[in-house]
Amino acid sequence: MIILPKLLYVFRALPLNLPRHFLVKVQSVLTSYVWNNKRPRVPRKLLSYRHRDGGLNMIHVQHYYWAACLASLSESFHARPTPQWLSIEAAYMEGHDLTTLLWVPIKDRPRIDSPLASTVLHLKIWDKGFRSFTNHYPISMATPVESFRYLLPHGDYARWAQYGVLNLHHFFDAASILPFETLCTKFKVPNAMFLSYMQIHSYLKAQKIFPTLSAKVPLLSETELFCLDSHSTTKAISMYYRVLNTPQKAVTWTFQKSWERELEQSFTPTQWATAYMFAVGATRCVTLLETQRKILYRWYLTPDRIKKYMPNQPDVCWRCSLAQGSMSHIWWHCPTINSLWKDISILATEVLGMLIPHKPEILLLGMINLP
Ligand SMILES: [Zn+2]
Repeated sequence: MIILPKLLYVFRALPLNLPRHFLVKVQSVLTSYVWNNKRPRVPRKLLSYRHRDGGLNMIHVQHYYWAACLASLSESFHARPTPQWLSIEAAYMEGHDLTTLLWVPIKDRPRIDSPLASTVLHLKIWDKGFRSFTNHYPISMATPVESFRYLLPHGDYARWAQYGVLNLHHFFDAASILPFETLCTKFKVPNAMFLSYMQIHSYLKAQKIFPTLSAKVPLLSETELFCLDSHSTTKAISMYYRVLNTPQKAVTWTFQKSWERELEQSFTPTQWATAYMFAVGATRCVTLLETQRKILYRWYLTPDRIKKYMPNQPDVCWRCSLAQGSMSHIWWHCPTINSLWKDISILATEVLGMLIPHKPEILLLGMINLP
């Protein structure tokens, strides 16, 4: 989209709190253009998701704005040498370090009387996206141990840094907190730190962090690794935009449920991801890609759908008049068309030199990885 660099220029040049109605307006103009002023026939949320998540990769203006602001914020993690504007921001922080405050829950953050507007903006956007940035909400494993002075006032947490215990994840292995003895061996921590260890342990227990631990969930997310790596060369805007635009939980869309119901089988998220990628990469012919995507989204108005708003219309298949004209019948089960799919299966097997089974999930929905 050629408009994107222009938007990014504004977002980057003016680190100001843009009113929500401005972002909504820009998004609305783009959406109206894409849908030709008609009602979208695909869930709006789905539009901006990546292809592998079933989306159409359409620009999400607010997320781009947030990503641009967060990229500016990330300068405080990575910039060498420190830009002048960061020094100016720091002068208004009353001795607090922004890179430490980020990881402190909002309710525990110290009040700063007159921070710069850009600092307030960056913190606000960081807080809005924080749930997407960490694998262990609300206490991130990237939290600097030093920041515990805001959470537990009576303790000397800065000393942990002397032994290389800088962030919370240093206290953990894959799925549990390390015993104090293990920390002593691993980091040469003296016994005098035991009280501090127990204070942190007790706080984490109260915050119910331990039940969230699992060997299957990495301690640090991609964003947290990015923030902790001062030499990271990752493109910040792209990374934040991707993270913000990735669904946090697996979503089962209505079109997925409908296909599974009509085909009387369920498909795994991996199978669906294969189908989504098939619909963008199986051919360079835009018309075929469009058709494939429309089949996936069940875009077409089949007789059973038409009958819902035109009751006088018959809902039987317009080819055979033998069964209800559902999507699966029109595209697969109809006897008139099913023989065509058999021929396609035989031909594709012959041409590609690999078995292309006569199954709707493969031939119709594209749940197959082609060589
Ligand atoms: Zn039919």
